[in-house]
Amino acid sequence: MKSMLLQKTITKDFKKKRNKGEVPMYYARDSHPAIVSREDFEKAQELMVERARSKGNTEGNREKYLQRYAFTSTIECGHCGKTYKRHIDNCGNVAESVCWVCSAYLIEGKNSCNVGRVKEETIKGLFMRVFNRLKTERVKLLGDYKVKLKREKFTEIDQERIEKLDEEIQSLIQQERALFFTEEKGTDHNLLKADHEKLVVRLVQLQTERAIWMAETAKQDSRIARTLELEAILDSQGGRILEFSEDLYRAIIEKIVVKERTVLEFHLKNGLRFEENYTLKRGRDLF
Ligand SMILES: [Zn+2]
Repeated sequence: MKSMLLQKTITKDFKKKRNKGEVPMYYARDSHPAIVSREDFEKAQELMVERARSKGNTEGNREKYLQRYAFTSTIECGHCGKTYKRHIDNCGNVAESVCWVCSAYLIEGKNSCNVGRVKEETIKGLFMRVFNRLKTERVKLLGDYKVKLKREKFTEIDQERIEKLDEEIQSLIQQERALFFTEEKGTDHNLLKADHEKLVVRLVQLQTERAIWMAETAKQDSRIARTLELEAILDSQGGRILEFSEDLYRAIIEKIVVKERTVLEFHLKNGLRFEENYTLKRGRDLF
């Protein structure tokens, strides 16, 4: 018989801790009823894997299919907000080149959005420039950024504010209970209703404020973690890179915003941004 103890942990202050009786615990019997036997289940799994393999559709391949190119789903148009798509210019011609173009332009024509295309080679080159700059100016670029993040990080004063909010929220919840209790005793309903509405408005205000504080902290924490990750990635590379690497690109870039045809803003996963310019040139752009 498979039973499972539910509510083993409770969520308080966004941290999980063991339930010591604050919240009722209960056993759910047969929370995972066995619908098929283990043998049948394993056989079915094998069959599915076999079928997927015969179609060349294993996990890795599917991922490759979804992210067909290094830049798929990572370039955003700074004018209309749509995603850039891969496009072959002068197809079959000597001047053939791979470009990335705003999808609004591709689908609805140049009247909808006309920022212009960016050559794939140029995007790769600009990424290499960003990466190599991080590598050579790491202390200045990442050091200053880490100091800034730590300065902005949750302070003790913020912690006190959260505790005060929690206290006030708890007290409002108790007041609400007291209101219901007086109503049961037969006090004027309309009077209580007005009091209750006021109370609920304040409660929502406080809870919203609390949620914003918590979200801000989570964001700060993730930026610091991403910066440490980025440092580890830089460490793993011997020197400046001379060739574009899709793995490195996917590891550190969140997205590129095309502000103008020749102005690309690289958004790193740790929150840093770099604006890169280049000059249009027939054949190969200059950067
Ligand atoms: Zn656009």
